[in-house]
Amino acid sequence: MADIELTGLSTVYPNGVRAVDGLDLSITDGEFFALLGPSGCGKTTLLRTIAGLEQSAEGTIVLGEKDVTRVDAGKRGVAMVFQDYALFPHMTVAQNISYPLRVRRASKQAQQDAATSTSAGLGLSELLERRPAQLSGGQQQRVALARAITMSAEVLLLDEPLSNLDARLRLEARTFLKRLQRDLGLTTVFVTHDQAEALALADRIAVMAEGRIRQLGTPKEVFQRPADTFVANFIGSTPMNLLTGTYRDGLVEVAGTRLAPPGDLTLTDGTPVVAGIRPEYLHPASDGITGTVSIVENLGVTSLVTLECPGEVLVGLTVPEQDEPAVGTTMTAAPAKGRLLVYDGETNQLV
Ligand code: ADP
Ligand code: MG
Repeated sequence: MADIELTGLSTVYPNGVRAVDGLDLSITDGEFFALLGPSGCGKTTLLRTIAGLEQSAEGTIVLGEKDVTRVDAGKRGVAMVFQDYALFPHMTVAQNISYPLRVRRASKQAQQDAATSTSAGLGLSELLERRPAQLSGGQQQRVALARAITMSAEVLLLDEPLSNLDARLRLEARTFLKRLQRDLGLTTVFVTHDQAEALALADRIAVMAEGRIRQLGTPKEVFQRPADTFVANFIGSTPMNLLTGTYRDGLVEVAGTRLAPPGDLTLTDGTPVVAGIRPEYLHPASDGITGTVSIVENLGVTSLVTLECPGEVLVGLTVPEQDEPAVGTTMTAAPAKGRLLVYDGETNQLV
């Protein structure tokens, strides 16, 4: 197993696109690490650069003790599972799984043993003689994982491995992947554009934008205290309320009211700020932001409530068992204690 140490890493495509831009990152041995970001932010490029499938223009990649920056892809001790699984269509499942051993000229017996043992753990034993076209998306994904495991790599790189599965299967596969990673203890970098997936799976998350890391932290840190308004907007099943306001006398003036930030902020009076309130933490209150309930969406256990206020539209999530407000009624709501986030209106950074 191995740590991954990236220093000043940049990858530039021949057309001049700087897809990875001066990135520093340390991933710990055995960690389940998620790279999260919108489409086009450089996630796949970063993974391919670590794997050696793209050459970095600047910086270094160290895996374990070894600087692999200029080492060939095949010699890095890295296994990558691609978004489309990239199985060999003309080979059986067994041949696909044992392929890495065949390349290394392992004995027929060793190849067979690997296919048998790896497939058992992944529920593929019955499918060994099938070809990829005869498998479901979930089964293909497991074959791709099995093939990656047969490589006995130190580092497993997964590029959006769940994105081709339907919603229900995706949840199952997610739990399965978490268990597999824990059992194998492989250093794993998991790429996704789905924040829920990253929050659910990862020990730590790096949120990327434009080839750089915007925030690095545990799922809890990234969810509770997004470092800037980009991350705040990106993380969460329902996007965070971001309201423009002004800081004055220790309070945040916003949407026709004044809210108390948690702790003291070192801002001068009159500073433009953005108030961040997660829908999960916006609750009915006697004092706070007053508006008219315009939409109520039933989500099963909770409801999503849209509140139209002077110059702003807010959304809140009811808590289980809470009566949902009627459309057209006036409602006052405020962030739960300690849950107001204040961002600098100019830099968009958390204050
Ligand atoms: P993500 O995986 O986060 O969606 P990518 O790493 O695929 O992002 O792409 C990052 C940026 O690099 C994008 O602007 C994309 O258009 C560009 N890009 C990706 N692959 C190539 C390529 N082979 N040649 C030129 N530009 C590319
Ligand atoms: Mg990608």
